[in-house]
Amino acid sequence: MHQDPSDSPVHSPAPAHSTTTVERGSFCLARCVCGWSGPARRARDRARADAREHLGEREQDG
Ligand SMILES: [Zn+2]
Repeated sequence: MHQDPSDSPVHSPAPAHSTTTVERGSFCLARCVCGWSGPARRARDRARADAREHLGEREQDG
């Protein structure tokens, strides 16, 4: 059976940057569809923080 994956005639406004976390062994790093990739982190939270920084969401600390 041939199933069409998904016909989407509408142009969804996909964001220029879409980050995700990738696990590499015991490390975790953030990656973006734009090609950017953060440094390997021991904790996924850190990788997510890198992703947030890349997206421009800077934490306001002081
Ligand atoms: Zn990006």
